[in-house]
Amino acid sequence: MKSWVEVSERRLVGNYGLLRAAAGGEPSAATPPTPTTAVLAVVKANAYGHGAAVCAPVLARAGAEWLGVTDVAEGAAVREALAAAGISRREQPEVLVMSGLLREDTADVIRHGLTPVVWLREQMEWLAEAAGRSGGVVVPVHVEIDTGMARQGVAPGRELEQLLAWVSGQTAVRVDGVMTHFASSEVAGSAQTVEQRKRFEEAMGAVAAAGLRPEWVHAGNSSTVDNQGAEGNLAWLRGLATGVGARSMVRAGIALYGYCLPIEGGGVSEVRQALQPVMTWKTRVIGVREVEAGETVGYNGIFVAERAMRLALLPVGYADGLRRELSASNARPGGWAMVKGQRAAIVGRVSMNLTIVDVSGIAGTALGDEVVVLGDGVTAEDHAWLAGTIAYEIVCGVRPAHRCGIAG
Ligand SMILES: *Cc1c(COP(=O)(O)O)cnc(C)c1O
Repeated sequence: MKSWVEVSERRLVGNYGLLRAAAGGEPSAATPPTPTTAVLAVVKANAYGHGAAVCAPVLARAGAEWLGVTDVAEGAAVREALAAAGISRREQPEVLVMSGLLREDTADVIRHGLTPVVWLREQMEWLAEAAGRSGGVVVPVHVEIDTGMARQGVAPGRELEQLLAWVSGQTAVRVDGVMTHFASSEVAGSAQTVEQRKRFEEAMGAVAAAGLRPEWVHAGNSSTVDNQGAEGNLAWLRGLATGVGARSMVRAGIALYGYCLPIEGGGVSEVRQALQPVMTWKTRVIGVREVEAGETVGYNGIFVAERAMRLALLPVGYADGLRRELSASNARPGGWAMVKGQRAAIVGRVSMNLTIVDVSGIAGTALGDEVVVLGDGVTAEDHAWLAGTIAYEIVCGVRPAHRCGIAG
């Protein structure tokens, strides 16, 4: 096998537990019990490149009440993976479809028992029609409020009031949740978050005035858990949810997998420090060769050996998600892989399916040796730094031949 991803189930469960505790998700022994905040586990984009079929059952067994996906196809795949892992439909978490609902999706929503995020009256009309065709089931939906992202969601004010007035007269569609998304959750003391909170409060006022009683009120992402700071965004969310008799929830993705953006302009981010990366991307050495001083390596000869070197060839490249920005010339060092626990610098251009690393200082490197392309010693943050992007894009872009869970 050219390359594969190992998912540490122990670390995934550990990160989930950490987020739950940090979100205030652990029920306390106090009487009356303090309200808790649930953590929806986001497994969209194939669990950020880790493999939703591997991660979804692990998260379900770790106690996730909700999983989040992007569309109905992902939702159906998650249901299938949970069933294949031996988790009965009754024991499975709810599955939130977060990004878009078209008319053609409604039958699958009902067939797989998914909960779509909606913000248009049409979307709920289609669901009501499909519910009618399915013998009068009631479809739960979560209504998204646009508080400042301007991606999806209904604006507070007249538009929202009209939508709520319409849906409160429906029997086939039930508002199970109301949610919004923060645009700058990793920014300490963000004025944008303050503004979004105000708009969400206004929206919740309209929800209550329309006589709706959602079960869930949710907002934010991993950084919302990490960056609670002086603003107390999760305490605020709990208060808002309790006010309408609902439970609060935060939606975490990247932090489950062990990464999180640093807090901008803030102090130490304790959650971020405690997270452990879950993905290890491995490959094997498919060639070892010696080059003399003066020989060029790879496309365009951007690297010239300055001394005799020993090079190892790896069967991964940018087609597999190893970013071309990790290429190295003599003037500009690039990325590295871990061979026998030591750094082996990339030399020359990363090509489509092949990459060359320097193993001159790593004695005994041989054909077939296991190499860590991304994992302990070379993180997605290292790749992101070199590629001028964020860890999200790196892990989502990893396309190995195979993904598997490992216990450790
Ligand atoms: C992807 C997503 C999240 C998770 O974001 P992270 O930053 O990865 O934690 C939360 N909410 C919505 C609506 C999303 O699309």
